[in-house]
Amino acid sequence: MIICIEGVDGSGKSTQTELLAKKFESEGKNVKVFSYPDYESDTGKKIKEYLHGTEPVEVKTLFKMYLDDITKDAEKIKEADKKGVVILSRYYTSTIAYQCAQGYDYNEAKKKALSSGLPAPDIIVYLGVTSQESMYRKMKGGFVLDRHERNVFLIENVLKFYRKEMDDNFPGNKKWIAVNGSRSIEEIQKQIWEEVSKVAARIENKAARKKLRT
Ligand code: ADP
Repeated sequence: MIICIEGVDGSGKSTQTELLAKKFESEGKNVKVFSYPDYESDTGKKIKEYLHGTEPVEVKTLFKMYLDDITKDAEKIKEADKKGVVILSRYYTSTIAYQCAQGYDYNEAKKKALSSGLPAPDIIVYLGVTSQESMYRKMKGGFVLDRHERNVFLIENVLKFYRKEMDDNFPGNKKWIAVNGSRSIEEIQKQIWEEVSKVAARIENKAARKKLRT
């Protein structure tokens, strides 16, 4: 099962990813977490340089860089999916929202994401917070804000593109679950678990039926 946790910076992705992984582990499941950007990778290092620099970079180059950083793990994600639960903190859905918010063509972005060889998630949990909340939480956490995090206009635009992806039901099959990310960590965790466990049960039932038939 592939679960994707989405939302702007400070929406609580890392917090909820960790809690969800622990919950699945406590149920005896094999869990693998992937977080993007992957700052340990070569592409991730370039992304970090860009985020903490001031040089303008063409949005086409940015899109490729962010998508490549994820596609390098395509086989690992597929393997982990076969063995258990995969939790992705950001995915191509982030790449689309952030780069289209900076002018990349939305249809081209969706096409590239779909032909990247990356598997589609079974559920996308979207943590909704306002741009003010996003910035406030990052500043409160004592982080040095990067060029995305401190740009309120960009965050506003990213929020619009997340909404567009949700309205378009990208990449299909009604995968998005919108969660109000402004509530307490515990309330959010509870709602995520309710939604995710429903999908997990559906997938397990389907697998069991398939096994019976063979
Ligand atoms: P992201 O991974 O989306 O950037 P984090 O999980 O790192 O977000 O959270 C950013 C900051 O906000 C952290 O200091 C975290 O403790 C705090 N935080 C996370 N969820 C909540 C919440 N529901 N309410 C208040 N603060 C939160």
